[in-house]
Amino acid sequence: MDAMHVMEELVAELNNYNYHYYTLDAPLVSDKEYDVLYDKLVALEAESGFVLPDSPTQRVGGELLKGFTPHRHLAPLWSLDKAQNIEQLRSWNARVLRLVNEYNLKNPDNPLPAPCYAVELKFDGLTLNLTYRNGVLKQASTRGNGVVGEGILAQVKTIKSVPLTIPFKDGVIEVQGEGIMNLSVLADYNTRAAEPLKNARNAAAGALRNLNPKTTAERRLNAYFYNVGFGEGVEFADHQEMMDFLRNNKFKVNPYLTYCNDFDDVTEQLAGIEESRSSLDYLIDGAVIKVTDFRIREVLGYTDKFPRWAVAYKFEAEETTTVLESVSWNVGRTGKVTPLARVEAVELAGVTVQNCTLNNVGDIERKNLKFALGSRVFIRRSNDVIPEILGKVTEENDGGEIIFPEDCPACGFPLEMRGAHLFCNNKLNCRPQIISRITHFASRDAMDIETFSEKTAGQLYDELNVHDSADLYELSFEQLVQLNRFGERKAQNLLQALEDSKGRDLASFLFALGIPNTGKATTKMLADHFRDLDAVMQAKADELAELPDIGGIVAESIVNFFADPVVVANVARLRALGVEAKAPEAPRPVSTDSFFSGKTVVLTGSLQKLTRDEAAERLEALGAKVSGSVSKKTDLVIAGEKAGSKLAKAQQLGIQVIEDEDELIRLLGM
Ligand code: NAD
Repeated sequence: MDAMHVMEELVAELNNYNYHYYTLDAPLVSDKEYDVLYDKLVALEAESGFVLPDSPTQRVGGELLKGFTPHRHLAPLWSLDKAQNIEQLRSWNARVLRLVNEYNLKNPDNPLPAPCYAVELKFDGLTLNLTYRNGVLKQASTRGNGVVGEGILAQVKTIKSVPLTIPFKDGVIEVQGEGIMNLSVLADYNTRAAEPLKNARNAAAGALRNLNPKTTAERRLNAYFYNVGFGEGVEFADHQEMMDFLRNNKFKVNPYLTYCNDFDDVTEQLAGIEESRSSLDYLIDGAVIKVTDFRIREVLGYTDKFPRWAVAYKFEAEETTTVLESVSWNVGRTGKVTPLARVEAVELAGVTVQNCTLNNVGDIERKNLKFALGSRVFIRRSNDVIPEILGKVTEENDGGEIIFPEDCPACGFPLEMRGAHLFCNNKLNCRPQIISRITHFASRDAMDIETFSEKTAGQLYDELNVHDSADLYELSFEQLVQLNRFGERKAQNLLQALEDSKGRDLASFLFALGIPNTGKATTKMLADHFRDLDAVMQAKADELAELPDIGGIVAESIVNFFADPVVVANVARLRALGVEAKAPEAPRPVSTDSFFSGKTVVLTGSLQKLTRDEAAERLEALGAKVSGSVSKKTDLVIAGEKAGSKLAKAQQLGIQVIEDEDELIRLLGM
């Protein structure tokens, strides 16, 4: 095929994707896939020296949606040139330096200074353009095609951080920012939504371009501002002055903003941002590097599509699309049967993805994936966890059906549906359940039986009939040495580790039992409160529900767990075999007059300067009760980076939140 033909096809395909992305807020491909095609078009245009009139490389954005009043921007809004690697970034900078040099040669009397750079986060949301007339917010609009956008004032007014009036009252200004949906808010929204939202960017864009501002309000959006695009009677010498103006006028400016005199520092900053990306509570798809000096900006000017004085450095994509091939079902420790999706192998953020999680059968239905086998789906990978399937690319139910199993895939026992999950209740004879139960029992935060692994549990189950945790303590040296891969030394080490584990404290023992819905924080609290295993086992639901970390569901779980004769017999055997499950030492004296004393505090998200365990220990020493979940009983929430649904819940309940880590450290007296 000749180049012209390929270009025509690419332009048509990209324009169709643009329509779905910009106009409908429902993309058909991931940004990663879009960018590959777009770059191919750019290369062909450069090679052939020919550009088709409707090429997406020549224009900003897409079509406007009907139903909104068009707003003509007072100054054009731009897209951003992009660099996908440091080399491309360096060539962007080389052009900046060359143009500055050329100018200086021609204007020796009034040379430009050496460029300095601002590095900002590149938020992945929807561009907002706000118009203030004499201090009052008069219009808010989308970027649209850069010249005219859609008027979405009522929708933007639902964003609580957008100021309705500003101190600057001497004329008209337009400021630009990005409307976003925080990831914690999205997660919280999705727990209640009939139809979960696939992606925070489209969730924000779709909400802002929704004709009903009530829908926008429900999504509890946020916004960061980063530019004054038009200002009657306002002039700035550089980016710093402009950002000060935004801050002084009460616009929300992201705390991350760095200035670099040296271009090498820019690259260092980028590495830092990429590293902290997964801990942010909002999506970013890169960083933006901007020349700070406004005279240089003027000299560098604009192409048809973007300023030459700024560039977006794009990070590795976290989302892509692939085909859902099959679903298998795995049985976990509690008997929960979870679906695992096999997808067509696809590269994502540097790894080949073949398995994705689908959470549970309820999730499959809510995400409209019941008939999605063989269909194209969006997948997302954040942190190092297994990627998640977000939903189908198209809404049609045209794929093969995912059949939910009726019987346990491991042992054949009939499954029971509880809530959104399937369960196998064959506790005593279902191999994978027992193996993960024993592996959990032996794990570090539980009985900490060194050298023990899932493989060991499987081998002991198959060859020595170890079917519950108590069986471990009856193993003999003779039995162990005859096992495959078990020498004398390994057998001895395991027996020693088992012996050592008998002295583990009550909290670890309770955690090792694997009580459903009961994590480390709760078992520790139970141990601290009751200080005796029998007392925990006999506690009544209402008594438990009084405790700080425990709601009705957890209280029921604990009571039901200890009402099970199998559990009671197992615990009795463990004790008879020498497991002590000792109560903790008498608690250390705690302060009664600190800021924290008597308060129930929840730690969530990740702290940068101290670990959560360190913070919890210090809080307890200062008289706080540290709890694992937010409820009406919570007095204070400490939210680190990427605080999720707990932060959202705290905000909903109006609970005091500390987000500033330095403030926390000060209050902790550390
Ligand atoms: P862009 O989104 O890459 O960059 C420009 C935008 O960045 C600005 O409009 C602004 O809203 C935003 N931005 C965020 N933080 C900023 C900051 N600190 N300073 C300045 N601007 C900031 O460019 P674009 O032209 O809007 O979109 C192109 C990109 O959109 C493509 O690379 C692709 O990834 C994606 N896209 C995807 C599809 C799809 O089908 N998946 C279709 C079209 C476009």
